[in-house]
Amino acid sequence: MAKRDYYEVLGIKRTASETEIKRAYRQMAVQYHPDKNPGDAAAEEKFKECAEAYAVLSDPQKRSQYDRFGHAGMGGGGFDAGFSNIEDIFDLFGFGDMFGSRGRTRSTVKRGSDLRYDLEITLEEAANGKDEKLSIPRLEKCETCEGSGAEPGTSPEACITCRGRGQTQFQQGFFSVMRTCPNCRGTGSIIRTPCKDCRGQGRVEKEKTLEIKVPAGVETGSRLRVSGEGEAGMNGGPSGDLFVVVHVKEHEIFERQGANLYSAVPITFAQAALGAEIKVKTLDGEEDLKIPAGTQTGTVFRIKSQGMPALGGRGRGDLFVAVTLITPKSLTKEQRKLLEQLAEIEDTDFNDASFMEKVRNIFG
Ligand SMILES: [Zn+2]
Ligand SMILES: [Zn+2]
Repeated sequence: MAKRDYYEVLGIKRTASETEIKRAYRQMAVQYHPDKNPGDAAAEEKFKECAEAYAVLSDPQKRSQYDRFGHAGMGGGGFDAGFSNIEDIFDLFGFGDMFGSRGRTRSTVKRGSDLRYDLEITLEEAANGKDEKLSIPRLEKCETCEGSGAEPGTSPEACITCRGRGQTQFQQGFFSVMRTCPNCRGTGSIIRTPCKDCRGQGRVEKEKTLEIKVPAGVETGSRLRVSGEGEAGMNGGPSGDLFVVVHVKEHEIFERQGANLYSAVPITFAQAALGAEIKVKTLDGEEDLKIPAGTQTGTVFRIKSQGMPALGGRGRGDLFVAVTLITPKSLTKEQRKLLEQLAEIEDTDFNDASFMEKVRNIFG
């Protein structure tokens, strides 16, 4: 029978993150677990299939090999599904240390940790995009020993206790149990003469300067992944990734909701009653806004395409401007005179139903 695609097995996209892979696998494992499906051979097959897919996709090296060569790339050094029983699979992949050495040579190659960098930018920068220089302290491969941890001229020796496997096996009742080798603490090798520069760690802390492009349209919580710029791996393992987490500062004028921006502008009674052309601030500058005669306070006007650009897409959101009628706090003599004249002749019969409705909403 032809093998199903591993991504298809777990029901995930080819771009799925490690967390998504893990989540998908756990869901499947719980669903098809033999305890839940006693005597169901199809479920058992599914369960094994998921475990196999997860074993490959959860390992960055195997995953990239699989991405490039498909199942053909998994032969030989790849995954072998030689499990003796199913509980085994669940224990092995469900929790904790997922790749124990099951007769294969244990690899002490470890992927470097992912790093997180919190970047604060302004709303304008979020709208236009930004080139940002980051200074990141991180663990990099030690140049002196080329990451081996052993003083140049010497090399790490295979641990005698575990024969380089990093784990020892002992018998407990019917079971043979693997545990981390106490002699080499799981690394599989012993360094007799540690490198002086990294004290045998194979990695040293360095400050690395990186230039990244923050794309237009990012918002608070956007994560930018910089592949391979995390910490160096151990024993030749791949580097982790750097995740830049964006925080957009609050703006004094604009409030953002998705791609749209919201602001408020004050207008006078005369402007509202007679109509006016006013200037409103936009992210880039100013726009003219026509206030029609008879505009009520709180009326919202929409200025097209003056919002935020869509992240990675086309077009921009809109700017919504709410006008607020401002009552003057002090009047000149002339203003007072004119307003008094107005008061004498203006219509004060507001007693219609829609007005009362509004009033109720204010206090409701
Ligand atoms: Zn070193
Ligand atoms: Zn050992």
